[in-house]
Amino acid sequence: MSARDVIANLRALAARTSDGHGAQRVAWGPVWRDARRWLDELLAEKGLRAQSDVSGNNWITLPGARPETVIIGGHLDSVPNGGWLDGALGVLAGIEALNRFSGATPPVTLAVVDFADEEGARFSRGLLGSSGASGSLVPDSVRGLVDRQGVRLAEALAENGVDLDRMPEARRALDQRHPRAYLELHIEQGPVLEAMRQSTGVVIGTYGVERHILRFVGQAAHSGSTPIAMRRDAFLAAAETAIACREIARRHSTPASGMLCTVGTVSVEPAIVTAVPGVCEIGLDQRALEPDTLRRALADAHEAASRAAAANGVTVTWRHLWRIDPCRFDPRLVDLCADAVQEATEHAPRLPSGPLHDAVEMSRVMPAVMMFARSTNGLSHCKEEDTPEADLEVTIDAFLRLVDKTVEAVAAD
Ligand SMILES: [Zn+2]
Repeated sequence: MSARDVIANLRALAARTSDGHGAQRVAWGPVWRDARRWLDELLAEKGLRAQSDVSGNNWITLPGARPETVIIGGHLDSVPNGGWLDGALGVLAGIEALNRFSGATPPVTLAVVDFADEEGARFSRGLLGSSGASGSLVPDSVRGLVDRQGVRLAEALAENGVDLDRMPEARRALDQRHPRAYLELHIEQGPVLEAMRQSTGVVIGTYGVERHILRFVGQAAHSGSTPIAMRRDAFLAAAETAIACREIARRHSTPASGMLCTVGTVSVEPAIVTAVPGVCEIGLDQRALEPDTLRRALADAHEAASRAAAANGVTVTWRHLWRIDPCRFDPRLVDLCADAVQEATEHAPRLPSGPLHDAVEMSRVMPAVMMFARSTNGLSHCKEEDTPEADLEVTIDAFLRLVDKTVEAVAAD
């Protein structure tokens, strides 16, 4: 049974590229390169071959009766101490989709892509290979990135035969493939499907993100001698803002589409237990599926921070870190995905994705959709990452149905 083969391959990849702490396939490093060697060996057994583009993405193509191409994506790179399913599930389910046509010619061309550096674990810039393929990558915007050892991104790329300045040229090669649809199977990495007792979900889009650093400046003072009423406590202003942001997320959430606000970092100065903090910086991450919701939530956060600053006698300034627009997947492919999930599992819950995926970059180029498999305890990016085998099997089955339906639809266009 084909879903079982996918799971067996995932286990073999994990055995080859993990240690006691989890998967170690960090992009541009030796274990990641070994994962790709492993894939080459698997492909050779099946008479297939991977070819890289100028962004370092690996493409495995099965020519069909027509050049129009259905693309199935994933990524072999992992975070340090990562899980066995994140990214690899998409690649290996794709290989299985090709495998099923072995000896025969599909009506349209099929291609599997193993994107390079989806995670951004080493240089803090995710979707690197796929943004090269979509042409959205601006080399100057990442040229200054260095890893913890001080290695520059361009050096790490060059070690792998990739020239940073040429990465966006991968778009031209992608266009020459006549891309018509992009499909990606991924684990949910969150607790929603498990809470619904569902194995498989239809992903309607990915959240947009607004990321900022807020810097509150008051006056450091002695914690023993300064009366509460006379303090200008930067931490308290930041803390009030963080609590207000939780309310903002609640206020903008609807049952159909959640809204998230997270204060994930905090630092105070002078960081002495006997001093009132004079400076406090917090990192705020906001996500929503509706562009308008994201805009209003950001405006509300600005207002809340100004109010908290005024109430504590401090100032606040905002520094923009990063943003991306929400992405809605193609309605026709979403419906095909729902049909496939319905056939395999009798329920087709639709949900948005909080994490970003390569599908966001591909949706700039062609219609795209994703399918999720449930995640045990909602965990990912850790060695505990898992999905029960029965749920994986039924989800892979649903995904292979989606591939068939998409091939049919593209052939009929
Ligand atoms: Zn992933």
